[in-house]
Amino acid sequence: MNWDNTTLFSDDNADDRAFREEVREWVGANCPKDLLNRSLRIDPPDLKPWHRKLYERGWIAPHWPKEVGGMGATLTQQIILFEEMSRIGAPTPYPHGLNFIGPLIVEVGTAAQKAKHLPGILTGDMTWCQGYSEPGSGSDLVSLVSRAELDGDAFIVNGHKIWTTNGHFADWMFALFRTDPAAKPRHAGITMLLIDLKSPGVTVRPIQTIRGDSEFAEETFVDVRVPVGNMLGELNGGWAVANKLLGSERFTTGHPRNAAVLLNKARQVAEYSGAIRDPAFRHRLAMLEIDLLAFSAFYRHAASLHGKRRAPAAMAPIIKIAGGELGQKASELFVDAAGPLGSGADDIDLGGSVVNPSADLFEMRRVTVGSGTVEIQRTIISKRVLDLPS
Ligand SMILES: Cc1cc2nc3c(=O)[nH]c(=O)nc-3n(C[C@H](O)[C@H](O)[C@H](O)COP(=O)(O)OP(=O)(O)OC[C@H]3O[C@@H](n4cnc5c(N)ncnc54)[C@H](O)[C@@H]3O)c2cc1C
Repeated sequence: MNWDNTTLFSDDNADDRAFREEVREWVGANCPKDLLNRSLRIDPPDLKPWHRKLYERGWIAPHWPKEVGGMGATLTQQIILFEEMSRIGAPTPYPHGLNFIGPLIVEVGTAAQKAKHLPGILTGDMTWCQGYSEPGSGSDLVSLVSRAELDGDAFIVNGHKIWTTNGHFADWMFALFRTDPAAKPRHAGITMLLIDLKSPGVTVRPIQTIRGDSEFAEETFVDVRVPVGNMLGELNGGWAVANKLLGSERFTTGHPRNAAVLLNKARQVAEYSGAIRDPAFRHRLAMLEIDLLAFSAFYRHAASLHGKRRAPAAMAPIIKIAGGELGQKASELFVDAAGPLGSGADDIDLGGSVVNPSADLFEMRRVTVGSGTVEIQRTIISKRVLDLPS
């Protein structure tokens, strides 16, 4: 039996059911087969044709308002699109443009910024990255030191960003810079800028990960001129703009899809290796499937509150912790399910489909770090929800 958390908690009405069928049929017929169920990361250039197809179908930005080229979809429709793509292992477009900076530009951008940037995000012609982390500022992001100094009609930017997903593929970066070093509290001296990465003075260097691919890059900025018109929000108001995002980001990294896909693969490979006949293995699989069931129900409830902007502060951190840790446990089970085959780095051909447990194991290490580590999420819960002392 394949675990299908697609419809388990759905409350589709008749229109939603019709929409789900339409999406299911279209995604199955149109997603390029070589992109399905890939264990290795898909670089942005390889994903662009699929992005373009979704754009042409009108389904690329279900959560954006219609006036700016989105679908203006209901939350259920948004979830259906995501679920139906997950169901067959179709990739979803990278979130940096569509989910992160796009909605921020819609909310706080100037008319000129909307006209310049939104079309390229929708078509997928422009790739974006997020420049927050620095070599000395990750969890304690507010300590960031990269500077942007006003000089007439431009900022002069100097500094160093790191762990930038897709930085080496991106055309544009949205990034936080210190514009008032004396400001107290520290977050009051930070501004968000939109930076053309082809600007003179920008150097981008890819970083190789434990899996051997290059998900990230680091960037140095030496006297880079960034027009004042590229400031998003107000001068020294970047922290508030950035904070509009982080909840959504944690919802994305904690989605139950990771664990659901991995448990399906674990079951498949266990049938192939014979591990499925081991009662201890079956016990572990069942326990994780039960956790997934409970977490999927929680996620759907949380997503519906988040969509109405009514999610309590603790929900995004809980999702990030629970979803991330569940995904990691599922990836460990997947390796064990493969027996001796699981300890190598090679693909395993199951006859009809190919899996790679070690690639997924490495992939899942990242989810408890990116968009704020689980330790920091626990601190947020202990302070803001449980009111525990520091
Ligand atoms: C897959 C992935 C994608 C990423 N993409 C981007 C991106 O696109 N753009 C971007 O800007 N950044 C990105 N990052 C960086 C990410 O935001 C940082 O790695 C993260 O915020 C942690 O910062 P750090 O790596 O500097 O670790 P540190 O902050 O140095 O933390 C090191 C360890 O110490 C722990 N720790 C730190 N402070 C505390 C504390 N107060 N209490 C308890 N424990 C603590 C942490 O939990 C962690 O285990 C990405 C990271 C990953 C893994």
